[in-house]
Amino acid sequence: MNTAVQNPSASASSLANDLSQISSANKAFLARKHQLLVDGAWVAAASGKTFEVRDPSSDAVVTHCAEGDAVDADRAVAAARRAFEQGEWATMKPVDRERLLHRLADLLEQHADELAELEAIDNGKSVVMARYVDIKHAIDVWRYMAGWPTKLEGKTLPISGNLVPGQEYAAFSTREPIGVVAAIIAWNFPLLLATWKSAPALAAGCTVVLKPAEETPLTAIRLGELITEAGFPKGVFNVVTGAGPSAGAALAAHPGVDKVTFTGSTEVGRLIVKASAGNMKKVTVELGGKSPVIVLDDADVEAAIAGAAGAIFFNQGQVCCAGSRLLVAQRHFDQVVEGVAGAAKSMKMGPGLDTTAQMGPLVSSIQRERVSRYLQEGLADGARAPVGGKALKTAGYYVEPTVFTHVNDKMSIVREEIFGPVVVAQPFDDIADIARLANDSIYGLGASIWTRDVGKAFRLASKIRAGSVWVNCHTVLDPSMPFGGYKQSGWGRELGGEAVYSYLESKSLCINITG
Ligand code: ADP
Repeated sequence: MNTAVQNPSASASSLANDLSQISSANKAFLARKHQLLVDGAWVAAASGKTFEVRDPSSDAVVTHCAEGDAVDADRAVAAARRAFEQGEWATMKPVDRERLLHRLADLLEQHADELAELEAIDNGKSVVMARYVDIKHAIDVWRYMAGWPTKLEGKTLPISGNLVPGQEYAAFSTREPIGVVAAIIAWNFPLLLATWKSAPALAAGCTVVLKPAEETPLTAIRLGELITEAGFPKGVFNVVTGAGPSAGAALAAHPGVDKVTFTGSTEVGRLIVKASAGNMKKVTVELGGKSPVIVLDDADVEAAIAGAAGAIFFNQGQVCCAGSRLLVAQRHFDQVVEGVAGAAKSMKMGPGLDTTAQMGPLVSSIQRERVSRYLQEGLADGARAPVGGKALKTAGYYVEPTVFTHVNDKMSIVREEIFGPVVVAQPFDDIADIARLANDSIYGLGASIWTRDVGKAFRLASKIRAGSVWVNCHTVLDPSMPFGGYKQSGWGRELGGEAVYSYLESKSLCINITG
């Protein structure tokens, strides 16, 4: 099972995707010239530049995309502005918006296998996970959001209006779309993150300029094609592929953008917030995490082991709410560490298109270097790795799933987000101290508690400063359940009604009805 981990060089070729086996639809897609979607048309970047897209399992270039920059961002924003203010979208009835969103969900469903395959080639993730997590969840979110346009109600307000004697008023609050939304997203769940931003924005009646991560532009382009096929009016949804510091920064600072919504690192999130201040854009940022998995002394230990392994190794640990800190009651510590290390050892490494692979490559060589640096730093600081601890010497960007013990709160591997398959395990003695330990982080995105005692779970959950607390599970996401961060994990929420309302302005309407 684990020959690839023990002897990576011997099986290096099996670690690369076999692209001759992919669907003919995707062969044709990869062979195509990928352009920007601006005002309903596919166009080259104004500069004429393109960039390479690589397969993380082999480092091979699989296709090229237009490299949009500030000029293209400007064109896309102008198109989104026109579509927002004039034309069909501006006057479209809510029920017709709903119909379009459902039509898009139908098309995504129809092309789900092909989208999963693209995601596996582009990101490196397992095609099975892509199909049953990324794509399935994305479709569910489009459908959930399709239900909202007809339900964005205002209120009748019981105002007293007693500042001007003798006058009578009727007052209402209404909701209106914010306007042009720039969505700048990360590479770990490409279609899913594009959906988390675009679906509520379009449901609310906004228009969108999407900038996917330069590492993973392919499903954003397919989404643009399918949105066009579904019949959305031109300019409602635009895609600008390109680099963060040029296309992304231009969108974040653009005076024609009313809201910027971002998922990515806390470092870039800060730049987005600063850039957005120029015209006081509305901002949602979903950022980093260092989420604890807390195993209490009364936990079902076997379930906790499986849960802890899934919490960190799913998607190669490239998950903002990955359970990257494992806090275990002292009496179970050795058993849990052994169990999670055992799970890591038995994982079959392999490329995304290998349906039996359990641990794929990281997304890019930069990411592999970044994670490797943390592995070296952890070992140099005195941490021990009963399993893993290094990157593979292959063309693909593989890193061994790693468990660190003998760690302390000063180590970078304990404090910083690694964004790879690396967990730090720490025992605790005192249940009274566990909330403090769990909260000892600049982040507050997620946490899980493993216990059989529902009272303990409730009490501890209320003390944890994180946007999601899971009990006896981890990274359970649902279209109806808001997701986002406390502290430096971000501002605002994705999913649920909260996401839709974040794309709406509230307007108070006051009518003098004095007779
Ligand atoms: P990661 O660290 O996970 O690679 P980043 O936060 O760097 O993620 O990137 C997330 C998204 O932000 C990507 O689409 C990237 O192109 C974009 N980005 C990077 N730098 C900037 C910037 N200065 N301004 C706007 N967007 C940026």
